[in-house]
Parts: sequence; C-alpha cells; structure tokens
Amino acid sequence: MGTILYPVGVPLPDKQRADIDVQRESVWAINTGFRQSCAACRSAGHQSPVLLPDGTQLAAASFDPVAPYSRVREPDYGLYFDFRWQPPWEHDHVDWPDFGVPASAEALVEALKTVLDRAQRAQAVEVGCIGGHGRTGTALACLAVLTGHPAQDAVAWVRSKYCAKAVETPAQQAFIAAIRNS
Ligand SMILES: [Zn+2]
Repeated sequence: MGTILYPVGVPLPDKQRADIDVQRESVWAINTGFRQSCAACRSAGHQSPVLLPDGTQLAAASFDPVAPYSRVREPDYGLYFDFRWQPPWEHDHVDWPDFGVPASAEALVEALKTVLDRAQRAQAVEVGCIGGHGRTGTALACLAVLTGHPAQDAVAWVRSKYCAKAVETPAQQAFIAAIRNS
C-alpha cells in the first residue's frame, strides 16, 4: 500500500477519495472495531484547518491508520492527546484518556498556550487525537475560550466551525466551561 498524500483542506478528486475511503474504512474497522460515522469527515478523516476567534490558524487531525503522517506540508509542531501519535516532526503529548478529560487542566492549558504561541508566530501547528472529535474538539473549544470566545458558547462554536461531532461527553463540556477561570 503506497503512501497517500492529500493536501489539508483541499477536496480530493472523486476517484482518489473513493480509494482512500476503502482503504481507510477497512483498516479503521479492523483496528478499532467500528466505522467512522461522521458525515463531515467520513471521506477523508480530519486534517482540517481551524480559524480561532482571534484569527490564529491551526490544523486539527484525526489519526489515519493508513498513512498518519502523510502531509503536503509537515507541521512545525504537533500537540497530541493520544500516545499512538509518534510523528517525525516536533511534538508533545497530553495525557488524556479517550472519552475523558485531561488528567491535569493546568497542564492542558499550558500546552494549549504553547500551541497558540507557535501558531501566532506563523508556525504550522496541528492538534489531534484518534477520531478527531472528543479530545480534539474539546481542545479546540478550549483554544476558542483562550482566544476570546465566551466559554458558554464554546461547544457550539467548535461544532459549527470544525465538526458537528466535536465534544463527546458531558464531562468534556463541563471541562470547557471551567477553562475560563484558568
Ligand atoms: Zn468529524
């Protein structure tokens, strides 16, 4: 199986998209026991540009089991919420169980401030988990709060600006609501 390259945020030709669909969904199903069901991302997973409320741009990624590190342009830095990510570019991990909240809110905020600082210096920065919804969505909502969006609307913000499936549990919602005081 060859390396698949696809540009961030650029639609693929239908044939190429269909080929990737077949490969990704079959491998994903084998590895995880379920199929991605998100209509917004079922064709290519998430390698999505996200524009934060203050104009800062970054990317959010799901873990592609076929070619997780294929990029047109490698990120300068990545922050990942799952240790399965071991990309060749500079990166850090935040200890954050799937469907859970981070072990340390302070550590997450510190890590997100690093993400913001790098992105605001025009580095290509990426955040990601596995599915790209729960942990990544929660982190994006926290980034929205840290860049000026009201915390009470941050879940709606990330669901409209990134993916309707973002933020998966009430505990993740409560975590976002508490970020404003951090
Ligand atoms: Zn999605």
